[in-house]
Amino acid sequence: MNIRIIRNAIRCNHCGDIIESTSVHDFRMCHCGCVSVDGGHEYLRRCFTYSPVDFTDLSEIEPAGDGDPENDNEDRQAKNRMASSAFVLSF
Ligand SMILES: [Zn+2]
Repeated sequence: MNIRIIRNAIRCNHCGDIIESTSVHDFRMCHCGCVSVDGGHEYLRRCFTYSPVDFTDLSEIEPAGDGDPENDNEDRQAKNRMASSAFVLSF
């Protein structure tokens, strides 16, 4: 399933820092050094020191597809092509 990443963020359960990665190579670590995020809006990457319960995930994702601007554009172009061929046929 394709997903779109709206927000790539976690909260460290040890120090309470909320860290967010806003671009692919934006690597962020909390101030106690226990957890980190990376990947921006391309992928969700988490690092932790002890276990996955070191952090609380605050990320927001949504399914990509209908809302995706590129697909939307292709869809519109396909519809335009259909519309124009229908127009030609009506003559
Ligand atoms: Zn921390």
